[in-house]
Amino acid sequence: MAMDTAAPEQATEGTDQELTDGFHLVIDALKLNDINNIYGVPGIPITDLGRLAQSEGMRVISFRHEQHAGYAASIAGYLTQKPGVCLTVSAPGFLNGLTALANATTNCFPMILISGSSEREIVDLQQGDYEEMDQLAIAKPLCKAAFRVLHAQDIGVGIARAIRAACSGRPGGVYLDLPAQLFAQTMNAAEGAKSLVKVVDPAPAQIPSSESITRALDMLKSAERPLIILGKGAAYSQADDEIKALVEKSGIPYLPMSMAKGLLPDTHPQSAGAARSMALKESDVVMLIGARLNWLLSHGKGKTWGEPHTKKFVQIDIEPKEMDSNVAITAPVVGDIRSCVTGLLDGMGADWRAPPTAWTDAIRTKVQTNVERMAPRLRNNNNPMDFHGALGALREIIKERPDAILVNEGANTLDFARSIIDMYKPRKRLDVGTWGVMGIGMGFATAAAVETGKPVLAVEGDSAFGFSGMEIETICRYNLPVCVVVFNNNGIYRGTDVNPTGGADAAPTVFVKDSRYDQMMAAFGGVGIYATTPDELTRAVNEAMESGRPTLVNAVIDETAGTESGRIGNLNPASKLAKK
Ligand code: ADP
Ligand code: MG
Repeated sequence: MAMDTAAPEQATEGTDQELTDGFHLVIDALKLNDINNIYGVPGIPITDLGRLAQSEGMRVISFRHEQHAGYAASIAGYLTQKPGVCLTVSAPGFLNGLTALANATTNCFPMILISGSSEREIVDLQQGDYEEMDQLAIAKPLCKAAFRVLHAQDIGVGIARAIRAACSGRPGGVYLDLPAQLFAQTMNAAEGAKSLVKVVDPAPAQIPSSESITRALDMLKSAERPLIILGKGAAYSQADDEIKALVEKSGIPYLPMSMAKGLLPDTHPQSAGAARSMALKESDVVMLIGARLNWLLSHGKGKTWGEPHTKKFVQIDIEPKEMDSNVAITAPVVGDIRSCVTGLLDGMGADWRAPPTAWTDAIRTKVQTNVERMAPRLRNNNNPMDFHGALGALREIIKERPDAILVNEGANTLDFARSIIDMYKPRKRLDVGTWGVMGIGMGFATAAAVETGKPVLAVEGDSAFGFSGMEIETICRYNLPVCVVVFNNNGIYRGTDVNPTGGADAAPTVFVKDSRYDQMMAAFGGVGIYATTPDELTRAVNEAMESGRPTLVNAVIDETAGTESGRIGNLNPASKLAKK
């Protein structure tokens, strides 16, 4: 769509006929609500929206594929508590963004997917428009809410509703459908300005009932072996000081879920991270704070939890329907985490006593034993590297740079990094989340750098990296301080599979041997480094973190080192081949 880039109000300035249009109203509505970044891919009909947004001072980050723009927007939402905006073209672009929108909803990240669309008249009669699709209908089951705006004067309300739906209660993804015609609609500028809505208190506090607080405290007091589990909802809530105070005052050991690592430093004396199995199995009262009893916690059942057992659960969550979703919750505390945690802290009183030392000492001992047992493996300098040697090196780098953001995906690369790399500050670890989705890497890394300005270290399996690898051009184009380390073991899980028929095709899980991912980065003007030992890896990553230049380190990992499906091999349907 061609357009005059001069704002329409300038064209008629000085008259009482000043006009604005759909393009400007969308931009003004976002800016009015402090949304200043857009992640997207340009094209018909939203190309000029991106151009104008940039000319009006917004930061517009253009990706190579909408899925990565979508992941970027979703993690921007997680990091800032403001909905991240992803902007796409119609039908195929919309569908490419939809995976990220669904993932945002599943992970409780606030995000708005804005897609241009075809005119209703043609879509509804299915007359075959350019990129025709009934996008609203398709988006609906995959997000928290979906809206369409047909008239310029409704843009303000449409964006306000999208923001509220994304941020309030349990956060999630929202779809906003903007037909091409809307952008060119004009209206009186003063009336247009009046039609915009500045959302007041987009995520209102939800105060838990005092009965629920008392019930929870009574259960915790009666516990012999209590445990706290912190989830990414706790990290999202930004109630960092309150959560730390609650954990420390209670004296209860805690386990962080993967993205909650660093809420308290992983080296904290109450962390049961290295005694996870024991803590889950032997605890008698478990308090979940912003964590769900989904597959990542074995649904609160079975061997992991030491069944048969008489465990009781306290659960803090903003979503009342989350309670009892897998096992009975004896003490539900429904409210926002800050209010709930503050309520518990206030209710604990001066006479609160720490849990029995038999329990806390047993956990400490287990943690120390496991940490000591792991230590020598993390210091090996093998060539080619194994996961422990390589991650042992990266672990030291994050220890020295606790402000850096770690992005992590893969199978073995994910599982090992999660337990090996200690985090020291909240919201510094971003990973595959609730779905265990591959492909978040470069989108998350880009948004983390854009939103925080901090250096980013993306630790990627070679397969995982492949999903978003082309976005290193985006990282170079915006000159972002991102260092990508590709754990190159020539394939998925391992690089050793062979075609059992002896045919010419490679086995389905292996890649070109000794691929040079570092040369991809060099192709876009970034720094590419080939590392075969932990020492070389350390040097390369330190240099990248120091310089802030886009860097990719191809870390050569022993192709025999990984295991099938990492640590979730139990989810693979059994087959003789898979077990070999
Ligand atoms: P993890 O995967 O780390 O266990 P989940 O994503 O499964 O975490 O769970 C996060 C939970 O946190 C969700 O049930 C969500 O409703 C809840 N949540 C998110 N934000 C808040 C908040 N501000 N207050 C209370 N609960 C929240
Ligand atoms: Mg691999």
